[in-house]
Amino acid sequence: MALSAQELLDRLDPEQRKVACALSGPVCVRAGAGTGKTRAITYRIAYGALSGAFAPQNLLALTFTKKAAGELRERLRDLGVPGAQARTFHSAALSQLGYFWGATVGGPMPRVSDATRPFVREAARRIGLPGDESTISDLNTEISWAKSFLVAPENYELRAAREGRGEIAGVEAGRVAELMEAYEKVKLEKGSMDFSDALLLLVGILLDNPKVGARVRAQYRHLVVDEYQDVSPLQHRLLQLWLGGSKELCVVGDAAQTIYSFAGATSRFLREFPKEFPGATVVELVRDYRSTPQIVNAANAVIGSGNGAGGAVRLVSQLPSSFPVEFREHGDDEAEAKDIARRIGILAREGLPFSEMAILYRVNGQSAVFEGALREASIPYRVAGGVGIFRRKEVREAMASLSMAARSEPSGSLSGNVGAVLRQLGWTQKAPQRAGVQRERWDSLDALHRLAVRTEARREVSLRDFVRDLEGRAGDENPPETDEVTLSTLHAAKGLEWDAVFLAGMHEGLMPLSYATTPDQKEEERRLLYVGITRARQRLVVSYAKSNGKRAQKRSGFLADVWPQAESKRSRATSYRQRARQAKQDFARDYPDDVPLLRSLQEWRRAKAKELGKPAYTIFPDAALRDLAVSRPQTLAQLSRIRGIGQKRVIQWGEDVLEVIARG
Ligand code: ATP
Ligand code: MG
Repeated sequence: MALSAQELLDRLDPEQRKVACALSGPVCVRAGAGTGKTRAITYRIAYGALSGAFAPQNLLALTFTKKAAGELRERLRDLGVPGAQARTFHSAALSQLGYFWGATVGGPMPRVSDATRPFVREAARRIGLPGDESTISDLNTEISWAKSFLVAPENYELRAAREGRGEIAGVEAGRVAELMEAYEKVKLEKGSMDFSDALLLLVGILLDNPKVGARVRAQYRHLVVDEYQDVSPLQHRLLQLWLGGSKELCVVGDAAQTIYSFAGATSRFLREFPKEFPGATVVELVRDYRSTPQIVNAANAVIGSGNGAGGAVRLVSQLPSSFPVEFREHGDDEAEAKDIARRIGILAREGLPFSEMAILYRVNGQSAVFEGALREASIPYRVAGGVGIFRRKEVREAMASLSMAARSEPSGSLSGNVGAVLRQLGWTQKAPQRAGVQRERWDSLDALHRLAVRTEARREVSLRDFVRDLEGRAGDENPPETDEVTLSTLHAAKGLEWDAVFLAGMHEGLMPLSYATTPDQKEEERRLLYVGITRARQRLVVSYAKSNGKRAQKRSGFLADVWPQAESKRSRATSYRQRARQAKQDFARDYPDDVPLLRSLQEWRRAKAKELGKPAYTIFPDAALRDLAVSRPQTLAQLSRIRGIGQKRVIQWGEDVLEVIARG
């Protein structure tokens, strides 16, 4: 969909337009979640390219996660600017390092290793520190913090004291400094480098070789950074060197979403941008285009009651009022997971694609219980950061075949062409009946087919472009979105959005995490919750379990202001009438779209009861009617699976009910 320059601007609000039109000089956008920061920079890039202010290949857009880089590329492609580079700091640094290594340092370049714990363990052993997993893990994090903060081992003690870091897992600062030195030695011996080294080495090369800097600048004359609140001092240093005095930098961020402090991120650079770049165009956005007023209210309340909001703006939703935020308490986490799976099933039957739903939680380990519940309910899902689809053998085979087929530039629809190739590899329109390896293979191939169908619905694409697109995704391991529920940690969900979000496991110990003990750490956890809430467009369900099966759990204190007042315990004496009224209200609130059908079903029941001279509830209980209205079975088999219906009713009333549903 190629838009004209004017059409691009027409799709922005006045402040966003200001960002898009500020095509030279430093630009800083500070704004809350969902206000269109990412939109503003993608449109700015597209507008800059269309109006001829810069060539897309001279621009480098930087993000902090692969997923965010993939998302940015996707949005740019949709706007018709495929040439612009969107990369993580790490991947940009690594590719430049590879390019300039031979001419500057020479010899074999160290391999990047993302698993640094073994090095820390070995270093700890050498200097006689305890080697238990939790100590090693804390020390590992501390080393990466120090490197991101550009703190060398010889300065560590001083800096650690100044920053009030205290002992790390019971290890005092002097010993941590020793460990840092030993760690560097171990790593060097293994011919490896860690994530920070890629940036540190490049910083070194740029400082020592002015010509290298000049060449980089000749290529990337414009830099754009999304989520700038998460920039570390090391990344900031690299940015400065890339710029080399130029002012062509545009950053966007939200101090209230700083969630990587533990790894060295700091919102200081965002806050001080106008000081660092005098004369910068500074824009603030407050209109929230993502979430309903109900969700925005919850977000404002959660961030507003903290003390570390650092000037968090109050968001104002631009969307019509919609579903209330739901707060649910469960007996244990399995019940919680089951309920979420059930709700997802209902939303899906109402027509919401699975890819528009996400379950977000605090730590990776929480995914298992949700995976179990979703699998049981036959709901497809994907764990963010899980085994990438492109590592699967059948997908590699399919990509090779698609690439061959693309050479002959076949005519016809994209999905038709992709389907034809996949069929030769054993893919069929319908899923195989049996589970197991064959089914897994089919799932992978079908994911490619679904991607083709979705791509062609959005824009016209040749088989060749589709293959190129796939190869691009495979390169950065950004799996194609297929119709699957996303399971993700709150950290990995940053910058993303879904129609329906389930924020699960929101109890003390996980939110905030029990490790968060200082006020700063607690505020970071609060920001994490704020990030979670603001991922939702239409529906937000917040839940926790009162027990984990072993211990009792308390609801997160961060939710105190938004959680509905505990209802006075309904006594057993509560009249049937009262309960029925409550159930009716709850239904109207949770399933407004199904109210008309429920009414038709009730009418049918009334008529039937009158005809037979029996009380209505003997025909169908209220709860069964509500379930029918929501799940809308189409066959007797589906009908018989509904709770409280039973074989007898299916035989007696099944056909009647199906007819009411079909009419409704
Ligand atoms: P986050 O802080 O979570 O990264 P963000 O500020 O980057 O959020 P975007 O992701 O750019 O926000 O936008 C949020 C949603 O609002 C997107 O779906 C986007 O398309 C939509 N949106 C933004 N601006 C507008 C606008 N002017 N008109 C219509 N929709 C908009
Ligand atoms: Mg964003």
